[in-house]
Amino acid sequence: MLHRLQAAGVLFIVIGFLLWVSVDSSGVLLPLLISGAGIILVSLARGITRRGRSFLCRIGLHKNKQTGWDASTPSAAVYQCERCGQKKRVVKAV
Ligand SMILES: [Zn+2]
Repeated sequence: MLHRLQAAGVLFIVIGFLLWVSVDSSGVLLPLLISGAGIILVSLARGITRRGRSFLCRIGLHKNKQTGWDASTPSAAVYQCERCGQKKRVVKAV
């Protein structure tokens, strides 16, 4: 969905640019509007993606790092993902 939004934005920019190149100066407003809409679409898609979790985290491949030990459960280590900050408790059998 987001990729499609970004692709549409890029397409808008390209169409706007092509129109701007092909028409004379009298019709410069429409290509500018189309390109502007494209830039807004792309930045919107980029902004949403940046706010969300990374692709690897979304498919469950977290970059877990041990941050400490759980105080309540013995031999339970606390892991935290370096990318999204998700915490996870792992009981280690010794
Ligand atoms: Zn993660």
